[in-house]
Amino acid sequence: MTFLDSSMAIPAVGIAVPDPGPMRFFSEIGTLLLAHRLPPVPDVYDLLWRYVRDDYHALSLGVDRAIADGIFDLAAVSELRRAHCGDLDASAVTALVEAAHDQAEALSQRIESGRTDLADYGRAIADGGARLETPIDAAGLAVLLEQLGAATATIQAANARLEGELASAAVEMRGLAERLGAAERAAITDPLTGALNRRGTIETLERLQAETRAAGTRLALAMVDIDHFKRVNDRFGHALGDDVLRFVARHLADSIAAGGGKVGRFGGEEFVAMLPGHDVMRATAIIDKARSQLASQIIRNAVDGSSLGRVSFSAGVAGDRVEDSCETLIARADDALYCAKRMGRDRVVPDR
Ligand code: GH3
Ligand code: MG
Ligand code: MG
Repeated sequence: MTFLDSSMAIPAVGIAVPDPGPMRFFSEIGTLLLAHRLPPVPDVYDLLWRYVRDDYHALSLGVDRAIADGIFDLAAVSELRRAHCGDLDASAVTALVEAAHDQAEALSQRIESGRTDLADYGRAIADGGARLETPIDAAGLAVLLEQLGAATATIQAANARLEGELASAAVEMRGLAERLGAAERAAITDPLTGALNRRGTIETLERLQAETRAAGTRLALAMVDIDHFKRVNDRFGHALGDDVLRFVARHLADSIAAGGGKVGRFGGEEFVAMLPGHDVMRATAIIDKARSQLASQIIRNAVDGSSLGRVSFSAGVAGDRVEDSCETLIARADDALYCAKRMGRDRVVPDR
């Protein structure tokens, strides 16, 4: 999301004038598309949008590297998306699903062969029973018992084999399920902060909207943006900037965890806090407490204890309405955030 700096001129009234920020990005993206002969399809456009806004510094560095290496093509775009945008590594997931399918196939074959062994055993017992219906001498009985003993030994061995195979298949299945679960979590997690990534945020918000509406409870959403974060990077470097992002993400998550709240990283230094069970005013109070706690402490470099100064954020809070989509709820919180920035930052503004 982009905000006009308070220093920029805003027309007082009259027709809507496009925000110059996005229009500048639009032409930068166009130049990149032409320079690298990339098609203007959504995935490419989305990646370039994040790049020109420098939303994710690691992604920007990756794009810079691909451009410098002269390999900024569609393959590089999908590799960068996988690494930085939470796109699933399709081939890895396909391999996992195929492995699970092979496992299931092998298991059903083993169970089928177990069923055949059991049927053979049943026939041997039935034959023996039939032979006992007519008089039988001691020698005949001895032969029959030997045959039944052999059939029993065979089925016992087959059972033991099947049991072993089922046990090892269960271990493999558990491993597969864990790897699939990890791939699923990675797809919705921001690797830098451990918060939900953009996709995870949208998915979680949609779920919370459905749940709170079904339960007839409230849901509030805060759009949070660190103030003057560029200066943190400029003064202390990107690595410490990354530490500050992790710190703020954790602080926000801790501040709203009690009520089942969830935090997502929506862009570079921009977070979304979702607060189920809260209306706008209560959510505003919770986020404002988190803001004042953050702004009142001096952040220190974990390595040498040196001061990174104070960090504040601005936030806009909106309450979910029945007619809201994910996008309209986020847009109202974003408008309120824009007001908070324009009013001087380091504050939380509720949606009117
Ligand atoms: P404002 O108060 O108006 O929000 O000012 P700002 O400086 O926070 O906002 P601006 O959008 O101008 O700058 C955001 C900066 O965040 C620019 C970008 O380099 C930085 N950034 C984005 N992603 C990352 C990241 O992953 N790591 C680090 N260290 N910096 C990042
Ligand atoms: Mg900012
Ligand atoms: Mg921002």
